Amino acid sequence: MKIYINGTFYERDDAKISVFDHGVLYGDGVFEGIRIYNGRIFKLQEHLERLRESAHYIMLPLHMSLDELTRATIDTVRANGLRDGYIRMILTRGVGNLGLNPFTCQQPQLIIIAATIALYPPELYESGMKIITVPTQRVAGSMLSPRVKSLNYLNNILAKLEALKAGFEEAVMINHLGFVAECSGDNIFVVKRGVLQTPPTNMGALEGVTRGVVMELARAQGLRVEEALLTRHDLFCADECFLTGTAAELIAVTGVDHRQIGDGTPGPITRQLTAAFRELTQRSGTPVYEE
Ligand code: PMP
Repeated sequence: MKIYINGTFYERDDAKISVFDHGVLYGDGVFEGIRIYNGRIFKLQEHLERLRESAHYIMLPLHMSLDELTRATIDTVRANGLRDGYIRMILTRGVGNLGLNPFTCQQPQLIIIAATIALYPPELYESGMKIITVPTQRVAGSMLSPRVKSLNYLNNILAKLEALKAGFEEAVMINHLGFVAECSGDNIFVVKRGVLQTPPTNMGALEGVTRGVVMELARAQGLRVEEALLTRHDLFCADECFLTGTAAELIAVTGVDHRQIGDGTPGPITRQLTAAFRELTQRSGTPVYEE
């Protein structure tokens, strides 16, 4: 495996960063997760733009243009010979002093890992999965923008831990107002009377790239799509429910908090959108190899 760190490729065992990197000391940095399908990088520009916005929000200078980032990403995938896989791009504040002050950090560090990922057990993609709401609330958007994909994932990790300890793969996170925000690592959608609904980002949801793709695909299929305030009641009484994420892709939810959703199997709109999503992933994206 070849890992990119600030313009140089290292073997897996040699790919190391300093313990004084503020990414390690304080979670001071941002990241992206990106998929490679069929020799192409899916929605690369959208991910890079979100990385740029996240970096801008935390006042972390992005020392490369989007074209240079695109090049570095393609080179990393190519160096690893991957046609299908998962890219993790991490931008940290860099090496600094012990102490919060980010101005002691001289140079941001860009790390790109190209590997593979399997988020949920494959059988759940057929049967759908049951999820649970957890006590840890989503950090309010007024405290830290949920649109920033930062290295501070403790809020989500606590939710994930609580779900796993309870025997569930994924957690629904409720915000401080009592509305559904998202899951620990995925966005959430419901279908009710033929309308597709998902919480707005200001309720505590990351502006997921997959979320955006699915909303577009749904509109193209003639579905009404709404950003809506959702409560647990709306989840329990939905006709269909599913999660989206780069790593998760689309996965049906057949139960929430021990209540069955719909008839307890992945619903027709979920299946239709999953098929459209898979089809899109196979034929679009930034080519890694000469075509
Ligand atoms: N919400 C959270 C908290 C996430 O970490 C992610 C990405 N894993 C998502 C939603 C989905 O976003 P995307 O579709 O851009 O991967």
